[in-house]
Amino acid sequence: MPDIMAIGDIVVEFLGTQLNQSFSETGSFDGPFESGSAAIFVDQAARAGVSSGIFAKVGRDGFAQLVMGRLQKDGVSLRGVKRSERTPTGANFVTYNSDGSRQYIFHYANSAMGEMGPEDVEEEMLDGCKYMFFSGSNAMATPSMWQASLRCIECAMERGVKIVFDPNVRAELHKGSLKELWEPLISCTSIFLGSESELMALSETQSVEQGLAAAHFCEMEIIVLKYGAQGSRILAGGQDIYIPPYHVDETDPTGAGDSFAGAFLAQLCKGEAIERAALFANAAGALHVTQPGPMSCPSYEEIVDLMERQKGGN
Ligand code: ATP
Ligand code: MG
Repeated sequence: MPDIMAIGDIVVEFLGTQLNQSFSETGSFDGPFESGSAAIFVDQAARAGVSSGIFAKVGRDGFAQLVMGRLQKDGVSLRGVKRSERTPTGANFVTYNSDGSRQYIFHYANSAMGEMGPEDVEEEMLDGCKYMFFSGSNAMATPSMWQASLRCIECAMERGVKIVFDPNVRAELHKGSLKELWEPLISCTSIFLGSESELMALSETQSVEQGLAAAHFCEMEIIVLKYGAQGSRILAGGQDIYIPPYHVDETDPTGAGDSFAGAFLAQLCKGEAIERAALFANAAGALHVTQPGPMSCPSYEEIVDLMERQKGGN
């Protein structure tokens, strides 16, 4: 069974071609691109050389063929992927603003992904697994999807599989107190990856230091704070290390965080030290943003090559 598992979104994404493009006016979009934070995460783990798999639900359509074809080519196990006879594969639309922010429209709730429930979780796939990844962008797409996530948490905990959580907060999907909503997940998390604002939002604190000291967060094994082009920060075992970025020309930032997470966990699976694993993950995230499309996951060789070219980061 795979070393790394994830649950959630095998979806496609359509990318607005103009900066500041409005959804309320006719415009052009590129796509479909393979997407879904969980799918990008497992794709990157497989590309980095570690066995990975995903619990997900897709429709019987071309979108599913597109994403499943890519995941299969990259070596991700699709045994945990179920088919809906009723609903299509999930999709989202994204546009970029000139200040770097993004706007989304998600077609998740009425898709195959939103239909997923606890009965779709083939728990044997967690036998021997080391890490189970959850992304906030899909864990709560619908009440049944949240039940599927809770089932996964339970099955992972029973087997001693470590819980990894990246909230991927999206204003369009998340309403209300995130701390309260995600308490069942946060309280079991061993490895947290997010931005400083996500840490503060989830801990309902006013500063990063307060967030790191908040209930549950102060007990986590590893906390990773991601800073886009500025690199990342790792807090683990009493150590607090800034991980410098690799320098690249950014084309499309979406998905870099999932690529970072997949690369980081893959290296931890191989027994790599945390700081080295984080440098590798920074390089994966950097290469990811040089290509268009959210699933532009670099190979192990491409990542090592960038690390060699920009020795030890900058
Ligand atoms: P997303 O939610 O879109 O997947 P994120 O906000 O979770 O992304 P980022 O901080 O944007 O995550 O990116 C993750 C990591 O990828 C960063 O910590 C950094 O190491 C690397 N990275 C991202 N953007 C760049 C960039 N422009 N230049 C160099 N490295 C980058
Ligand atoms: Mg993210």
